Amino acid sequence: MLVTKKCSSCGCWAVFEFAIFCSKVTEVCTHCQATTRNIPWDREGRAAHAALVAEYERLCEKYPQLREITKPGDHLQLQEE
Ligand SMILES: [Zn+2]
Repeated sequence: MLVTKKCSSCGCWAVFEFAIFCSKVTEVCTHCQATTRNIPWDREGRAAHAALVAEYERLCEKYPQLREITKPGDHLQLQEE
């Protein structure tokens, strides 16, 4: 699954590979390859994920260029107000 979100490692909005395996999530920034492993995919993890998706949708309204980040490797340094 691919998810667009802000990477805390490279500071860019980027596409993340999001792999769920044995109720743990591994996510990889396809821009800088920063990897976070063993995120629990429980109710909290799912809620946090849903919140991220909602935030992305909300920010897309304000910054339509975010909608162009859809493929692995895509990234954007966003100057947020
Ligand atoms: Zn990154």
